[in-house]
Amino acid sequence: MLILGVLQISYRQTYSVILNGEVIGYTNDKVTLQKRINDYIKSGDGESVAFVDLKELPTYETCLLKKNLDTNDDEIFAKVAASGIKYYKYYAITDENVEKAYVKTFDEAEQIIQNLKDKNSKNKDTLGIVEKFNTEEGSYTESAKVVEMCYQERPQVTQAKKAASSSSAIAKSKGTVYVTDLGVTLIKPVVGSYTITSRVGGRRLNGSYENHPGLDIAIASGTAIKAAAGGIVTRAGWYAGYGKCIIIQSTSNVNIIYGHCSAINVSAGQRVAQGQLIGKVGSTGYSTGPHLHFEIRYDGKVVNPQNYVYKGE
Ligand SMILES: [Zn+2]
Repeated sequence: MLILGVLQISYRQTYSVILNGEVIGYTNDKVTLQKRINDYIKSGDGESVAFVDLKELPTYETCLLKKNLDTNDDEIFAKVAASGIKYYKYYAITDENVEKAYVKTFDEAEQIIQNLKDKNSKNKDTLGIVEKFNTEEGSYTESAKVVEMCYQERPQVTQAKKAASSSSAIAKSKGTVYVTDLGVTLIKPVVGSYTITSRVGGRRLNGSYENHPGLDIAIASGTAIKAAAGGIVTRAGWYAGYGKCIIIQSTSNVNIIYGHCSAINVSAGQRVAQGQLIGKVGSTGYSTGPHLHFEIRYDGKVVNPQNYVYKGE
C-alpha cells in the first residue's frame, strides 16, 4: 500500500511509443495519437502529400512516467511522419493518353482543360487529367504555359464532323480514367456525420500496396444509402470482398457500386430513382468498420467519385 502510494505521487500511468525498437516518446492519449497517425498514412496532409508508406507502425506500451516529465505527441507524430516515404500527388494533363505537362492541383488541371475548350482547341475532346503519385515533389509547369503547349489550332473546314462525335475526354492511366462528363449528375449516397477514410488511388493496407478503386465514407452502421443516380439494379447480394453489395447501372457506360452494406433494400432487375433508399451502411465483406465503399466505373474503368460528388472533401 505504502509503495503504491509513493508511486502514485511521483509517477503517472501513460504510454511509451516505440518505433523500430526505440522509445520515441510518451503519450497520455494513445487513441487520438493513433488516429492522427493513421489519418496521415491514409490521406496525407490534405494538400500535396497523398499518402505515406510506413515501414513500421509505432507500438504502444503502458508505463509509469515521472510526473515532472512531459508527454510529447507532436514530436512523436513528427518522428513517425519523418520515418515514412511520402507520396506526393500531382496531375498530368494528357492528350490522347500522352502526358504533356504536370500541375500541382486538380483544380488547376481542370481550369487548363476548360481554357483549352473555351479556345476550341482542336484536341479538346482528347484531353484528360490523370492523378499521379511520386515520392518527390515534382516540378510543375505554369498553367498559361500548359495551355500554350497543348493548344492546337482548328483547321477551318475539315474537322467539323469529327469534333461533334465525341463528348467525353477520357485519359487512361493504371486502371483509372478521368471522364469530364459522366452523362449523369450524382447526389451524395450518404449524408450526415461522415468521414472520408480512403480515396481512389494507391494506398498501403496491411503491409501491401493496392490501388483502391473507390471512396470509403465512414458513417454509422444503419445509415440510409441513397442511389447517387437512378438506373437498373444489376446486383443486389454478396459480392466477394465488397460484402453485401449493390450495383446500379445508370447508363450503358456508368455503373455505380455500393459495398459493405448491412442491409439491401432493392433486388436485381429493379429500376431505382435517384435518391431512392437502396440499402443501409454496414461492415460486411472486407471491411474493418462501418463505411460505404462508393465506386464508379466508366466503361469498366475506375473513375474518381470526388470529381463529381464530395468534391474537395
Ligand atoms: Zn473501399
